[in-house]
Amino acid sequence: MVRNFLFHRVSPQRDLLWDPMSVELFDKCIGYITNKYKVVRFEDLIDSDKLLVENKIATIMFDDGYKDNIEYALPILNKYNCKASFYVVTDCIDKNKPTWTHQLEYLFQHTNISDINIDFDFIPENMRVSSLHDTKARLKYVLQLNPILKKLPYHQLEKVIERVNNTYNDIHLPKLMMNWDDLRELSKQGHYIGSHSALHSTFGYASNDDFIMNELMVSGNRIMEELGYFPKTISYPVGSYNSQTKKLVKQAGYKAGLAVKQSIFNPQTTDLFEVDRIELYNESWWKTKMRISNSLEIIKKLIKYR
Ligand SMILES: [Zn+2]
Repeated sequence: MVRNFLFHRVSPQRDLLWDPMSVELFDKCIGYITNKYKVVRFEDLIDSDKLLVENKIATIMFDDGYKDNIEYALPILNKYNCKASFYVVTDCIDKNKPTWTHQLEYLFQHTNISDINIDFDFIPENMRVSSLHDTKARLKYVLQLNPILKKLPYHQLEKVIERVNNTYNDIHLPKLMMNWDDLRELSKQGHYIGSHSALHSTFGYASNDDFIMNELMVSGNRIMEELGYFPKTISYPVGSYNSQTKKLVKQAGYKAGLAVKQSIFNPQTTDLFEVDRIELYNESWWKTKMRISNSLEIIKKLIKYR
């Protein structure tokens, strides 16, 4: 049984839509986790019997590749002598651009332009054209749009992202990502760098196998070029995958695929291509502690089955 804890941003910066975890809370989390569990790198568990025999083990994981991981999270990881795994979107690292999900949220939150027109036939009619007069209206709209976009194949999604970027041209996207030197430094210090795809596309909704294979190979090969190895692990963007994804991930040469299921990974009942991870957020400490012990999910299940 392994508890895989997933983080994204760790920063004192605040965000209305996707708030980074505060540095204080992150410190508390790592202190608590290292005290309760033995923290190892997930990649060291693959192909070892530790996965089956040990019970009180945990891993620390980061998705997306934000610069604040090295600025704010790394000193805390060092303080508790803790090695983590970082899953990066290689195109975002190459271009220092946030993932499309973050781009979208950032643009809608910060623009001063009112009108948006995404008149594509694959977008529901009531969402195609809108006049959004203030930040509140724009936030409401993007929260509705986001789940629709997550279900589109990438070639359609790309059109929407391009349109939003062109419309909200009063905004420059922030430079928030790590570069390859940062990742080399993390790797040198004993942390693991794995793939989180090339484009942050949702594998579960991809239009065809070739597209997914390309995502798997391009990102794996970029890591190989820069860091000298083909990654053992891939974290599924937006947690999206299906049985075909799992097959392709295996074929591409990865040893494990990481999902987000808010539960403890049991290798006796779940295979290595849909590994459970527990995501932690910028919430109150009592709620975070319940997530860490997984009691929040257990309580939810009890209520559901009553
Ligand atoms: Zn991601």
